[in-house]
Amino acid sequence: VLELRDVWCAFGDHEVLRGIDLTVQRHEVVALIGASGSGKSTLLRTANLLEHVDDGQIFLSGQDITDPRVDGDAVRARIGTVFQSYNLFPHLSVLDNVTLAARVVHRRPRAEAEEHGRQLLASIGLAAKADAYPDTLSGGQQQRVAIVRAIATDPELLLLDEITSALDPELVGEVLDLVRSLKASGSTILMATHEMAFARDVADRVVFLDAGRVLEEGPARELLSSPREPRTREFLARVL
Ligand code: ATP
Ligand code: MG
Repeated sequence: VLELRDVWCAFGDHEVLRGIDLTVQRHEVVALIGASGSGKSTLLRTANLLEHVDDGQIFLSGQDITDPRVDGDAVRARIGTVFQSYNLFPHLSVLDNVTLAARVVHRRPRAEAEEHGRQLLASIGLAAKADAYPDTLSGGQQQRVAIVRAIATDPELLLLDEITSALDPELVGEVLDLVRSLKASGSTILMATHEMAFARDVADRVVFLDAGRVLEEGPARELLSSPREPRTREFLARVL
């Protein structure tokens, strides 16, 4: 679904991504791990065309989205994205948040979008909150709404950036359970995470970023329990 080939991205003379090669297969869950500043968020943002690519190519379902003729909005309409701090629109109801992209970007009829939106909210136990405003929900509830909003238009790929790091610890579990169920339903996910236990549990593959390069990657359990590279070992010793 997603393939990065030798992707480079610099801010001024700071090379943040230094030749990233990475693929995510259909139905695969890939966890990106690495120290703060290693380039995880930047990598996710390049995949969404929210960040420039200096060199290299990114393919989404076979299409080179780094081709300058490609429309970024059209690419983003095919990708669901959730960031660390739930960015629900505060002035829209929960249901309107969930259905906005379907109605405005994908031009689905309101009744159809709302029926689907209510089903999604019911699937996360928040049917009763459809008409509430985001600030009346807990952080975990808001983040779960942000996730169902991201999947409401059946994206080809989900990008999740540290979706639990702004949450109180007791709210992390419900958000991770939702990601587990997305995996079970066949979603294709690339996620940056600090939750190593979760990565081990849910990811098929783990990619360790070190200073803008993929230093090591492999099956989640294998990489997390017996990393080959000393720097990966060092990192895991600090966070586990
Ligand atoms: P964290 O675990 O803290 O979220 P990260 O791995 O997601 O870290 P990035 O946010 O990708 O790291 O940042 C990588 C580097 O790129 C950092 O040194 C950061 O300061 C720099 N950087 C990111 N965005 C910009 C920007 N818009 N302008 C300048 N520098 C940036
Ligand atoms: Mg980040």
